[in-house]
Amino acid sequence: MLVDTFGRTATDLRVSLTDRCNLRCTYCMPPEGLDWLPKPELLTDDEVARLVRLGVERLGITEVRYTGGEPLLRRGIADIVRRTAALEPRPQVSLTTNGIGLERLAGPLADAGLDRVNVSLDSLDRAVFKRLAHRDRLPDVLAGLAAARAAGLVPVKVNAVLMRGINEREAVPLLRFCLDNGYQLRFIEQMPLDAQHGWTRDGMLTADEILAMLGAEFALEPDGPAERGSAPAETFLVDGGPARVGVIGSVTRPFCGACDRVRLTADGQVRNCLFATEESNLRDAMRAGATDDELAERWRAAVRSKRAGHGIDDPSFLQPARPMSAIGG
Ligand code: SAM
Ligand code: SF4
Repeated sequence: MLVDTFGRTATDLRVSLTDRCNLRCTYCMPPEGLDWLPKPELLTDDEVARLVRLGVERLGITEVRYTGGEPLLRRGIADIVRRTAALEPRPQVSLTTNGIGLERLAGPLADAGLDRVNVSLDSLDRAVFKRLAHRDRLPDVLAGLAAARAAGLVPVKVNAVLMRGINEREAVPLLRFCLDNGYQLRFIEQMPLDAQHGWTRDGMLTADEILAMLGAEFALEPDGPAERGSAPAETFLVDGGPARVGVIGSVTRPFCGACDRVRLTADGQVRNCLFATEESNLRDAMRAGATDDELAERWRAAVRSKRAGHGIDDPSFLQPARPMSAIGG
């Protein structure tokens, strides 16, 4: 098992399949994009499959989420999903995507064994979407969402990040849209993980502010006990339920104490936290001929050294060198 010195066990593996993307969300990367990782540095499909197998068969991983960058840009994605879903014990297999290309891929991915998707959508206003993501792709995202639902990748979850002065008015329309279409909406507080280091506390809409905006239009009632376990989202029943909305207060309501996640970057580095400043290089070890036992031991050691929390509120907080798109959100 992957246990750290605070007694937390990592069972949820997030795998970045590429650092590339076809959007340029302001909170993630600059309009001109980034210097993408050179192909030889990326794990091959077989290398991804080997590390995921190790995680599931030997290290207690029960949930595998593919992300990026934009994971649908990875040509081998359906095959990677198929190989993951064939593992024993079978993990839950999910995907976080911006939805572009999902219209075509939702069916094949569901057939390959994908269980669920999270689609990121920050605005329903085409002009606002374009301003935020620097690409005029809202219709593709909406088509992708509908295709995911039709393919049975349910519940379809929608992730939204609100930025002051850009899309802060979108909270209510996004919730109405998700209620109308049977999608589960979750708002995520903006974190200091953008490549251009443009995050400011004032620019971020806090969980409290988001709940106040929603509360003015909908009746919100906490869903279940106050204890949210390892689930980062605090969920609320909307207008008496059964529909729900979630708010992930990554900055103002951190859930580090119950974190069960570990990450594998597209170039084969294990990270024990989004905000980790150190990584463990499984790719080079693997390419130098490491055995499964040796790789598993490296992975365990990387998780063992996980810190208690991300410390965004601490004056000594340091933003990690890698941006979110290279870590895998
Ligand atoms: N490209 C895919 C997508 O957008 O869903 C997957 C990768 S993206 C990095 C994963 C999630 O991280 C998205 O829901 C995105 O909104 C979120 N995200 C990116 N940068 C963020 C930031 N600075 N703060 C909070 N969430 C962020
Ligand atoms: Fe691309 Fe996702 Fe980052 Fe937006 S959040 S730029 S879609 S990786």
